[in-house]
Amino acid sequence: MNDLLSLEATLTLPSPCQPFTPEWPGSNSVNLWVKRDDAIHSVISGNKWRKLQHTLKTFGHSQIVSFGGAYSNHLHALGFACWKLGIPMTALVRGHESATPSPMLQDLVEWGIEIEFVDRKTYQQRNTEGYLTRLKSRFNNAFIIPEGGSEASAIYGIQAMVNEVRNVVDFDTIMAPVASGATLSGIVSALTPKQSAIGIGVLKGEGYLEALVEQFLPLSSCTHSTNPNQNWHINHSYHFGGYAKVTPELKQFCDTFNSTMPFHIEPVYSGKLFWALKDMLSKGVFKQGSNIVVVHTGGLQGAR
Ligand SMILES: *Cc1c(COP(=O)(O)O)cnc(C)c1O
Repeated sequence: MNDLLSLEATLTLPSPCQPFTPEWPGSNSVNLWVKRDDAIHSVISGNKWRKLQHTLKTFGHSQIVSFGGAYSNHLHALGFACWKLGIPMTALVRGHESATPSPMLQDLVEWGIEIEFVDRKTYQQRNTEGYLTRLKSRFNNAFIIPEGGSEASAIYGIQAMVNEVRNVVDFDTIMAPVASGATLSGIVSALTPKQSAIGIGVLKGEGYLEALVEQFLPLSSCTHSTNPNQNWHINHSYHFGGYAKVTPELKQFCDTFNSTMPFHIEPVYSGKLFWALKDMLSKGVFKQGSNIVVVHTGGLQGAR
């Protein structure tokens, strides 16, 4: 078996899509499922495998360069995959070496991933053409993957996830957290006209997040503010002050959830998603009797 096949043999795919029956106000008036992408693999979890799979399956370069913070789920998943596949990788990490090394960075070191710390100003250039051209020549024509693994081909793997869900439930609404937007793009591009998607913004980004989602969509699915037929939107009420910002209430919610529910969440992505679900159920936002799928995008390593 080659390395990719042996890696794939360790993944739980299709991931489970399970009924979810919390005792929350309003939950009896709808039918809930959770798509357990957190269960795909202990390291390459959730949407990060979905987003990387196309690139890894078609990979033809000599090495990979990518970006992220010190707790990045993307760098963690990609680093593990590169280690298993024998692909040399350099992680450009936002911040300073002097900061305490996170468990994520310690794992990268163990897997033989080169780490280069990048100051904030340089990091801001991560999507600009000039900077990327310089990186390419410095890293011997490396394949460069954007922050979060959100390149155009990322949506293929997400579409495959939606198709797995379709085999289990004919859903009306599907919900997922939104940060760089590729996951929601992939979901939207796989919907039938009768289905709708709700993104939960995990950072402050009204307008900005919609634009990120639209960059991967065909034009007909765009113009979110003016198109009454559009079947997706982002709810911006649940970012808790910004990316990775946590209130004591959110932390308490995650702790209670983790001690009473059959699977775990963390405060950066899934915690905000399930908090939003609970709040929206209590407010009667969903149509009575509708089938709702919540995508657990993984990311539990970031909470270590
Ligand atoms: C990266 C990540 C997201 C965000 O997905 P985007 O495609 O960047 O919007 C959501 N959940 C988890 C657990 C993640 O690691």
